[in-house]
Amino acid sequence: MAAYTPMIQQYLAIKEEAKDAFLFFRLGDFYEMFFDDAILASRELEITLTGREGGGESRIPMCGIPYHAAEGYISRLIDKGYKVAICEQVEDPAAAKGVVRREIIRVVTPGTVMETKSVSDKANNFIVAVAGGNGVFGLAACDLTTGELYVTSFTRAIDVLSDEINVYHPAEIVGDDDVLELIKPLAAAWNRPVLFTARTPMDAGKLAQQFEEQQLKPLDPIRERAVSLLTGYLDETQKRSLSHVRQIRTYEPNQYMILDPFTRRNLELTETVRDRSKKGSLLWLLDRTKTSMGARQLRRWIDKPLLAKSPIDERLEAVDKLYRDLILRDELRNELAEIYDLERLVGRVAFGTANGRDMNALKTSLQHIPALASLCEGSNSTTLRALVEGVDDCSDIADKIETVIVEEPPVSVREGGLIKPGYDEYLDQLREASVSGKKWLADLERQEREATGIKSLKIGYNKVFGYYLEVSKANLHMLPEGRYERKQTLANAERYVTPELKEKERLILEAEEKMVDLEYARFVELRDHLSAHLHRLQKLAETVATLDVYQSLAAVSAEQRFVKPEVTASYDFIVDEGRHPVVEAVLEGAPFIANSTSLTRDEYSMLLITGPNMAGKSTYMRQVALICILAQIGCFVPAKKAVVPLIDRIFTRIGAADDLIGGQSTFMVEMKDIQTMTEKATSQSLVIIDELGRGTSTAEGMAIAQAVIEFVHHDVGCKALVSTHFHELAHLEETLPSLANACMAVQETGDNVTFLRKLVPGAAGSSYGIYCAQLAGLPQGIIKRAYTLLETLEQPQKRHTSMDAAANGSDSARIPVPIDETALAAKEASAAYESNDNTIPTSDASPRDMEVVQLSIFED
Ligand code: ADP
Repeated sequence: MAAYTPMIQQYLAIKEEAKDAFLFFRLGDFYEMFFDDAILASRELEITLTGREGGGESRIPMCGIPYHAAEGYISRLIDKGYKVAICEQVEDPAAAKGVVRREIIRVVTPGTVMETKSVSDKANNFIVAVAGGNGVFGLAACDLTTGELYVTSFTRAIDVLSDEINVYHPAEIVGDDDVLELIKPLAAAWNRPVLFTARTPMDAGKLAQQFEEQQLKPLDPIRERAVSLLTGYLDETQKRSLSHVRQIRTYEPNQYMILDPFTRRNLELTETVRDRSKKGSLLWLLDRTKTSMGARQLRRWIDKPLLAKSPIDERLEAVDKLYRDLILRDELRNELAEIYDLERLVGRVAFGTANGRDMNALKTSLQHIPALASLCEGSNSTTLRALVEGVDDCSDIADKIETVIVEEPPVSVREGGLIKPGYDEYLDQLREASVSGKKWLADLERQEREATGIKSLKIGYNKVFGYYLEVSKANLHMLPEGRYERKQTLANAERYVTPELKEKERLILEAEEKMVDLEYARFVELRDHLSAHLHRLQKLAETVATLDVYQSLAAVSAEQRFVKPEVTASYDFIVDEGRHPVVEAVLEGAPFIANSTSLTRDEYSMLLITGPNMAGKSTYMRQVALICILAQIGCFVPAKKAVVPLIDRIFTRIGAADDLIGGQSTFMVEMKDIQTMTEKATSQSLVIIDELGRGTSTAEGMAIAQAVIEFVHHDVGCKALVSTHFHELAHLEETLPSLANACMAVQETGDNVTFLRKLVPGAAGSSYGIYCAQLAGLPQGIIKRAYTLLETLEQPQKRHTSMDAAANGSDSARIPVPIDETALAAKEASAAYESNDNTIPTSDASPRDMEVVQLSIFED
């Protein structure tokens, strides 16, 4: 077999270090890929596959990209879930003996990407490490762009680990091999592609170099292992000191409300179910932040609602003060608008990628801190005052940047023009020399013009020949003999040098080169200086982010007419005229109909909600869950009045469009969710089940639904909202003291069904489905037959449905009864519903309160 050329041998040796990544092999102005990498990259990046001789038996597949366009290509590969190892020439080709030395300088991976093209400003990019120990799991999550590092641990339950991982939306997970194997099958539920890499922990000595003892000491072994797995991976891929990842923030999982991935998705906390966009989610509604740090912090708060009263009250206090004080809020917003992304700037400083413009962004941001702090100090909010008490405004850092960096520095830090005059004496001298050199050139040009009489004679510069005198062909005869040495001939001009020009050129170029080098050195010095203060900037950034979230929550609360909830440690959930915050915000024209909720220990804690499709059942149930979440993140809630207890966990089983996960049937998915609920729910939880029992035969579905309801009622005792189309289950109200029937009121007028969107006591009538079929134009014979069949099927349960009771007189035409009759019947049945002051809709409800919908057909 023929031997590969030395360069290909070098390539192959380096590729051994990066087997799981594309190796971007620097060759001059290109990054080249060879062999299988080239074949795959050409396909993934749609670039031409070529080949080259490499000494082997056949041509080597090859493709390349220009180095200056690399960022875009790298981010495309990262987005597709690949890793990219960047291999640079690490010695000057001119000085190299044989093949230029090359090394991998960094491996870019989905969880460690720093490039602005690949990471969103408004969301963290977390990489997660998982560790498995005896009966425990450890988890560490780091955002390399900001330096945040969170650590926790819990008993060894894989679903708990999976839920916790999902909170971070990681693109990449590293860690103990056996734990990764357990996690992989669950990753489908996270709804985002994840890259897994097995690792071993970092050497203890190296770990101690990264973190101070006081950071590592409080960690128990499993947490330390998680940190070590993560830091080891970062060290290996980034190959540089990570001076911004120094602080380890530990937390206990029970500090936060538990929300499984389905619940997060169903409640559309940070993205919508339909197209996974932020628009239309709770985050979208709440995000009035002015800084990217604030936006990320808000997302973290929504991802982790609190579970203790006092920190929630603290947040609510700040939101309340800002809610009331519009002037303060506006002033804060104006200051915040001037502050750049301190956290990511810190990340770039630590990473060595910050440029002069980043420094100035840092400086101007810091210059707004004193004003921000004094606004908080002057406020009457204890939370805001405490937030800025003793705040380190890092003004020394701003001052330092001010003395070093010019007002408008260039993007590049290697081409000079970024250090202020007066900062470095020698630099000033060199500049002086360069300026006087340029002046000398101008003088020379003038003198030569005068001496030769050639008015168009000019002095120019190019990289190859340096400075020259240019004379057009037409004027050549006017040049004196001897003094000028010809350097270059153009189509219509000649270029010359003189000995004195050459001499001056050397001085000028030397000065310029020295200047550029010196400026770079001074800049790096500044960057290194800042590196020692990153933790101060990070702390400040967090303060600013928190402040930004407070004002954002206050702004939305004011705008959307939210009220301050009373958060309690007791059981009862009582909301007066609650609304679904997002549905309300996106409803165009029609008003949102408010509905009250009362789930209490003494009366009833479970509602069984019936009503046709589109009546507003799931909106209502989600609204209850969202009010709990809003209150527990410290935000006001959409209601007239709200008493919200601390909810430890929300379970939702809401039939969504994407029920088919991993080939499981809808019914199986539902049953698994219910199984989790039966195992995990406590009396402090909130359970929401939409359309319980569908997906199997009617009898079975109903049987299971009843059994589940009874279980929640007897064994869990938590607050629960259950909707079902089995109106036959309404009889449960009679045997389960804590359960009440409720339905979404509907009014029928002529051929129209009007959804009143009002939750009323009692169970819904049963014939909307057939009525709907009638509306859709099914033959009269079918409709009649359906009514007859329904009659026989329903006989045993009939007495239990209040609407049917009202309609009893008109058996022959089982059309939904007019709403005033419904209301009457409902009133009769509402003895158990006293605590709410719902206005039960009557026939004189204003037409503006009603949305008239011409139904084509119900979905079920
Ligand atoms: P269901 O779960 O009963 O099928 P939904 O809760 O999905 O019905 O509601 C259907 C639509 O009705 C929603 O998309 C929303 O636009 C509207 N809607 C629901 N509740 C209300 C309300 N309280 N006020 C105004 N419109 C509502």
